[in-house]
Amino acid sequence: MARMSEKKYETMMPKRNYEIFPGRNKFYCKGHIIMSSSNCVFLVTVMLIIGTSTLFFIFDCPYLYKELSIAIPIVGGWLFIFVMVMLLRTAFSDPGIIPRAGIDEASYIEKSLATNEPGVYRPPARQLDIEIKGKQFKLKYCFTCKIFRPPRASHCSMCDNCVERFDHHCPWVGNCVGKRNYRYFYLFLVSLSFLCIYIFAGVVAHLVLFRTQGSNELRSFVSALRENPTSAMVAVICFFSVWSVVGLAGFHSYLVSSNLTTNEDIKGTWAARRGEKCENPYSTGSAFGNCFQIICGPAYPSLIRRREIVVTDLPDYCEAQSTAIDIPKPPILNHEERQTQSFPTMKKSHLNKETYSDDFKDDSNLGLLKLSSV
Ligand SMILES: [Zn+2]
Ligand SMILES: [Zn+2]
Repeated sequence: MARMSEKKYETMMPKRNYEIFPGRNKFYCKGHIIMSSSNCVFLVTVMLIIGTSTLFFIFDCPYLYKELSIAIPIVGGWLFIFVMVMLLRTAFSDPGIIPRAGIDEASYIEKSLATNEPGVYRPPARQLDIEIKGKQFKLKYCFTCKIFRPPRASHCSMCDNCVERFDHHCPWVGNCVGKRNYRYFYLFLVSLSFLCIYIFAGVVAHLVLFRTQGSNELRSFVSALRENPTSAMVAVICFFSVWSVVGLAGFHSYLVSSNLTTNEDIKGTWAARRGEKCENPYSTGSAFGNCFQIICGPAYPSLIRRREIVVTDLPDYCEAQSTAIDIPKPPILNHEERQTQSFPTMKKSHLNKETYSDDFKDDSNLGLLKLSSV
């Protein structure tokens, strides 16, 4: 009996939004970090960057510092830190997930689109016409998220959520790339290109200088490679990585200067059709303006409020249809009254704020908590 009431008590305990978040995203560090469900490829990216850079700093930098300049390891170190910060910022942040509609919102949309004929059910129309800069556009309805997707948004099949200004899902960074993390992704690609070229050039300089050192005769390049196997391995890794990284950075530079997303570029959303010109309404008209808007524009707030507290299981007396409840504020107690207050004191007749966690005490001051919606 005691166990049953304990269980019921647990189900009534409020939870953070990230603990019951729909979709396939994974949350870490109490909801502060959000990633996609599969992170194996992301770990490969991290290990490749850290491993290659570490070998460069251990086996090549001391020699280059002695023979050339102290600036070489310093610049390399700054570049490495910048790459890692941009990578982690892209991987751990909310890409711009659009909250799914709550029960009330979804039923309101379905009702407003349903036919008036009794007994006839018609699914909601899949499109909604809107106007941007005097041009007509269609918003698609997402049957999973129960919302009309904003322009440029798309539903990521890997994360199972709609993402604003969806670019693509990138397994290398373990996250979607969208409105909120695109600039970090782009800066990551550009800085990684510089790091790859920098390390490759450093290793080649090390091997070339090593050929002339210690003997009057020039060593062959092959023998220099044999005597520095680690440098040779770093050079090979950089040589094969640099093409794809620089190519990708170049492609995204074109997208940034045109204010396009990968998704739009692949689908040809703003391409001319049947002789009719279709201009991208989001472009500022100049490459510089587009770059400035994407790289230096305002940071967008996250919409999913992942650390907000929600109550998942209502007490019996609450109506099942209800999506929000008023949490009564506790009486203001003086010091003596606080001393005599026993814990926990959950009464079925009302939700007592004193039984919740410290964080909940702060958040419940808002009075109104939203249920099963984000
Ligand atoms: Zn969706
Ligand atoms: Zn995704």
